[in-house]
Amino acid sequence: MRMTRIIGTLLLVICFSASANCQSSASHPGSAAPYVNPALSTPSHLPPPAFPPTALQPPSLIVLITIDQFRDDYLDRFAPQLRGGLARFARGGAWFTNAHHDHAITETAPGHATLLSGRFPRSTGITANRVGVEDPTAPLLGSVAAPGASPRRFQGTTLVDWLRAKDPRSRALSVSRKDRAAILPIGRSQSDVYWYAGGRFTTSRYYRDTLPDWINRVNARRMPQNLAGKSWTLLLPDSAYKEPDSVSFEMHGRNFVFPHRLPDDSAAAAAASLATPWMDEIELDLALAGLNALSLGKAPQTDVLSISLSATDAIGHGFGQDSREMHDNVLRLDRNLGAFIDSLFKLRDSTRIAFALTADHGVATIPELVPASVKPTPVRVNAADLDTSLRAVIASANLDTNLVAMDQQIVLVDRDLAALSDRTKALDNALSIFAVRARSLPGVARVDRFQDLLRGDTINDPIARRWVHQFPATSNVALVITLTPFSIFGESSVATHGSPYDYDTHVPVIFMGPWFARGRYPEFVRTVDLAPTLAAVAGVKTSEKIDGVVLRRALK
Ligand SMILES: [Zn+2]
Repeated sequence: MRMTRIIGTLLLVICFSASANCQSSASHPGSAAPYVNPALSTPSHLPPPAFPPTALQPPSLIVLITIDQFRDDYLDRFAPQLRGGLARFARGGAWFTNAHHDHAITETAPGHATLLSGRFPRSTGITANRVGVEDPTAPLLGSVAAPGASPRRFQGTTLVDWLRAKDPRSRALSVSRKDRAAILPIGRSQSDVYWYAGGRFTTSRYYRDTLPDWINRVNARRMPQNLAGKSWTLLLPDSAYKEPDSVSFEMHGRNFVFPHRLPDDSAAAAAASLATPWMDEIELDLALAGLNALSLGKAPQTDVLSISLSATDAIGHGFGQDSREMHDNVLRLDRNLGAFIDSLFKLRDSTRIAFALTADHGVATIPELVPASVKPTPVRVNAADLDTSLRAVIASANLDTNLVAMDQQIVLVDRDLAALSDRTKALDNALSIFAVRARSLPGVARVDRFQDLLRGDTINDPIARRWVHQFPATSNVALVITLTPFSIFGESSVATHGSPYDYDTHVPVIFMGPWFARGRYPEFVRTVDLAPTLAAVAGVKTSEKIDGVVLRRALK
């Protein structure tokens, strides 16, 4: 009941955000005092930049590879053992080594929505996973018992729309194991978008009425089901892994030691395959099948292939970033990506392909494994306790508890309802009392009024800046709660992400292809800079004001 009410409230936020007010907020990012990197930014009051085409021909194919929950430091940590696709990006690409999701709720949906839009969650409207893509009006094709999904709540445009404005022949294929990771990178565009649900790849009625033959052929191969009885073993000899394999915190104490054998039942194996490197292999196979079937990347227009690989996220949530499983997963991902790029280069002219590699967020260390030197000691915070405390404060002020809704780390208020009953001042007082109480709870670092952050120092206070980038200035978010470093909400994930701290925001941003100057670039950049940089090499203009800037240093 409570969850239904909260989602309902959040949807109200979304509807509110989609109003004209929100649009004007989105088109004047300067009004919210965003972080400005003087070396990179153009003043936000100027019209959208017209990108001068680079000297090279535009690419015939842009390939965006997003690795779900991939920390930037994995590339250095495992560098000596990388020799496939990750090695190719790290050694041959233009690698921005200090790239961040510069928003506060570092979850899958908001992260993916920034990548090809060049805009922060405050203007994409995708502020959290819970308000991502679920849409009962867009049921999935085939008899799949999963919720419908669409980009209905995504606002504005993406690179795919910009490309189509220049050449309507431009097409996009976006694939992932997750619906939100397939849908959100390419926004609202009508494209080929497929994800994994109920043991097969499918799409929703937002995109089509029937599945194309090539998807049916991929599904007929039953790749996930055929993993029944197989074991995930180490790629390299034991001695190549320094991580202990006997960490009982992993997987809540179940099945935390190699080899990881999948069930003999094919349906159970398909479900279990999500947290193995095989799922990425299957997704990359799907991407190549789609490229062939749709004849993507054959010019003269620029097409887009977006691939979001989800296995790292599932493995990271279960085993943590310091696990032997994560180490082996990264090595296998490297090999799988290498094979994918080799195959792609056999199918298409490698000199006409622009690559970008990034992630939707990082991940924190398992709280119980954080070194004792980290103070305050990280804890697992029970969101329900915060909710109970909020309701108690509101009730004791003789206010209607329907005036507020707590959604994990944010407090939403219905100011219109408060104004109707002339209780605005009383509500504000109660929120102040709650903020003081919440700040005293273990694991809570700060509780800020969102409106104060909008007027605050977003240059020297990155936490404030990341919250400012999260919601429109006109949203009904009253308070935002930031936990202490490495503290997380809940017990369900062994390890997780979602905070405004660098360990969750820091991701790789690497470009590769003839347009880009190879090297490591240490300056601070944002994932919103990825879309305008790709637009620059494709010689297209953004069709609205965006938050990102072209990373010219990476361009030849
Ligand atoms: Zn994610």
